Amino acid sequence: MKFLKSLFGCVLLLGVMTTFTPTASAQSITSVPISSSDGVYLVKTVMPTPDFEFTMNNLLLVHPDSVILVDNLPPGLYPFFAFEIHTLSAGEPVDILINTSWHFDHVGLNAEFNVFDGTSTIIAHSRAGDYMNELNCIEEIGICMPPLPEEAQPTEGIRGVVKLLSGGETITLKTIENSHSGADLVIYLEEANVVHTGDIYFGGMYPIIDLAGGGTVNGMLHALNQVLASIDEDTIVVPSHGVVGNRQSVVEFSDMLRNTRKLVRKLIAEGLTEMQVMFHPSFAALDAQWGSGFIPGPVFRLIVYRDLASHRGGQM
Ligand SMILES: [Zn+2]
Repeated sequence: MKFLKSLFGCVLLLGVMTTFTPTASAQSITSVPISSSDGVYLVKTVMPTPDFEFTMNNLLLVHPDSVILVDNLPPGLYPFFAFEIHTLSAGEPVDILINTSWHFDHVGLNAEFNVFDGTSTIIAHSRAGDYMNELNCIEEIGICMPPLPEEAQPTEGIRGVVKLLSGGETITLKTIENSHSGADLVIYLEEANVVHTGDIYFGGMYPIIDLAGGGTVNGMLHALNQVLASIDEDTIVVPSHGVVGNRQSVVEFSDMLRNTRKLVRKLIAEGLTEMQVMFHPSFAALDAQWGSGFIPGPVFRLIVYRDLASHRGGQM
């Protein structure tokens, strides 16, 4: 499991947590207009490791009235990332930052944008700030995230649906409960017909579900159903991680999640242990399609097993 050790420099031992500040050390950043709407860009950052590519997809809206950025990157990449953002914005600073997740890879530059860009508004789920104030560990992948400084904290905690208007674009923010974590956001750009799913959907790979941080398999499936009900065949679906897709991509990801849940539940009922389920041959076909990202199949199964075995993943 050197996949995350090589990226974040952490010690990966299940059950033995190492507190550290995750950082990334290498990157390439590219940007493209993502729809026919003016000033809407996909900013893609690749942080290569010897084992896989860690990708982060951000959205940037550059309009005469405001510059709005969806998420940022792990700590340490502000100079590179801000250069890209400011090139696209013609030097205008970021006015509003939206955090789809409170995890380090989405908020690692919150403080820098606050201090150096003067970003005065940071919007997140109303519980995100509570998580950012604490030490949080995801035991299944061996990562701990230390509390963040005051400058990194959200200034606007929201719950439910909030709409922003910028340059003729309607930006609809919807909070998501107990899915990837306990405090996520999904962002719809109504005129551009783009949805940024944060981490409730991963593009072409197994996802992380942060059980200790409030995530559940059932919640993720519920959230995906909400997204599917809100988009059409032409919607551009931008995950925080992985390839950009469409409605059908989300359907296939939901099917993978549902099939994994069904199979893990069956194996638990048969009395198999965590380790037996992690490496069970029944998942070979799913691994061939979904296991080449930064969460290997056995690690994803460990997450699903623990969720279902705790009965939180119960009866849906
Ligand atoms: Zn993420």
